[in-house]
Amino acid sequence: MINCGDCERALNPYLDRELSEEDLVQVREHLDACSGCLHRFAFEESLRRLVRVRCQEQAAPDSLRQRITVTFAIERTRTRTRKRSD
Ligand SMILES: [Zn+2]
Repeated sequence: MINCGDCERALNPYLDRELSEEDLVQVREHLDACSGCLHRFAFEESLRRLVRVRCQEQAAPDSLRQRITVTFAIERTRTRTRKRSD
């Protein structure tokens, strides 16, 4: 049985449908037993749905993607800089 910490770590991969069948079963079992995590998952899922709908309404997924790409690029640069100074 997984604990709340494991469950929280599985939240994003769960919503992204990236969990293995085995992990998925474990998460579902935990959600059945833990209302705290269940609420958190439900909240996060509705939040994602809202964001998706908003993006479609404003037809702005491209600029959003661009922003995310820029953020990733900055993060990569930062990681590289850190590694170089080591
Ligand atoms: Zn929990």
